[in-house]
Amino acid sequence: MTSRRRFIAIVPLLGAAALARAEAPLVDPKDPQAVALGYTPDAAKADKAKYPKYAAGQSCGNCALYQGKAGDASGPCPLYAGKAVLAKGWCSAWVKRP
Ligand code: SF4
Repeated sequence: MTSRRRFIAIVPLLGAAALARAEAPLVDPKDPQAVALGYTPDAAKADKAKYPKYAAGQSCGNCALYQGKAGDASGPCPLYAGKAVLAKGWCSAWVKRP
């Protein structure tokens, strides 16, 4: 296979992967896993009484588990398989990105 042909064969796969990533449904805050971990799509609305370890500035976007790219509005989180979390969201499993 020529490199041009290989490139043409790979492009649709990359496009499909990007599409699949972009189209992952957002986690429903009422999802049992989300409720158990106190996920909120808006970190500023985290339940500070229930989760005293929450500190202003924490969000999915700066969590070690967040798999979205910098600048993306949402991205995958391994705690919510097949779903995306908002970069400005938060849950009690937040871990500082090293
Ligand atoms: Fe967001 Fe991190 Fe919680 Fe995943 S573990 S939902 S990235 S705060």
